[in-house]
Amino acid sequence: MAQESTDKLIREDFDAGPSSYDEIIPGLYLGNVTAATDVEWLKEAKINYILTIDSCPLPRKIQELLPNLTMKYIQVTDMPREDLLTHFEDSYEFIDHTLQLNDKILVHCYFGVSRSATIVIAYLMKKYGKGLFDTFEAVREKRRFVGPNAGFLAQLKLYEEMGFGIDNTNVQFKMYRLQVAADKVRKAKILPQNCAELIKPDPALATVRPEPTVYRCKKCRRIVASVSNILPHTPKEKQIWRHISSKKTSKQSKSSHEPLEPLERKEEQQPVEFCTKILFVEPLAWMPDITHNLEGKLNCPKCSTKLGSFSWIAGSQCPCGSKIAPAFYLVPSKVDWSNAVQNVQVTV
Ligand SMILES: [Zn+2]
Ligand SMILES: [Zn+2]
Repeated sequence: MAQESTDKLIREDFDAGPSSYDEIIPGLYLGNVTAATDVEWLKEAKINYILTIDSCPLPRKIQELLPNLTMKYIQVTDMPREDLLTHFEDSYEFIDHTLQLNDKILVHCYFGVSRSATIVIAYLMKKYGKGLFDTFEAVREKRRFVGPNAGFLAQLKLYEEMGFGIDNTNVQFKMYRLQVAADKVRKAKILPQNCAELIKPDPALATVRPEPTVYRCKKCRRIVASVSNILPHTPKEKQIWRHISSKKTSKQSKSSHEPLEPLERKEEQQPVEFCTKILFVEPLAWMPDITHNLEGKLNCPKCSTKLGSFSWIAGSQCPCGSKIAPAFYLVPSKVDWSNAVQNVQVTV
């Protein structure tokens, strides 16, 4: 509804400064938009590939001046909540393809500090199987002012935890994608079609390999969730997805813009006790209103008993003190946990 405020700085109000770039590993350059538009330098350095991660693409003219140039463009602004993680794999392929050909590539954003550095770090992490800490340091040795924003650092950390790939079963990744979707819902007031896959099939209708452990409506016994749909949380945690991985009880980030401390080496993982006061679940196909309402009730699809609620934007506060957003939850007193294997044993 509201347009971007007009007193905001737009890119014409400032420039990226003089051309700035560094060769991070042989053939892989990281730089700013000025370098990416410096046709003479691109020619001289024999750069035939450019990966742009910016809010707008490079001017068309570059392609005319450099007909051999292959370009890839990822539209992302430098905001902590922007999703770069789902572009890591694509970018990896593009960069790696170039380097395999012994060609040269420039990865750039506006300043060559945050977005493009994130993509380069993600590439190197996967390529060499090294963690965020070591890779960040290695890149900083070549380009001293690299500094991915806090959200991108958290995404890199999650990427590391997923073994330098995308793991759709990873709970933090599920939370991450839900948060990305919630940001879109906030803008569009409706769940965009390209997020529809976030809504998981109705576990009551699962015919292929149904899960043995399920939750049923206490009143009518209809299956309403299976164990894999549960998004576990720990007590008193501010469960923005990125905080789960960095198990810090003493210090929590107060806002999404506050830098995290992802560059500390991994601590020993403590055994985690999950809270059972509220069952947070993935959005499920039997929840009819969630695609076009910001919040509402979750009623049993069979007997209409209220089982819980959902809220895309405000989220929900568990009695344990955890704050989850977006939230889709079932109240434990309204559902029964049942194990199909047990049931089978009883009837045999
Ligand atoms: Zn019911
Ligand atoms: Zn709780």
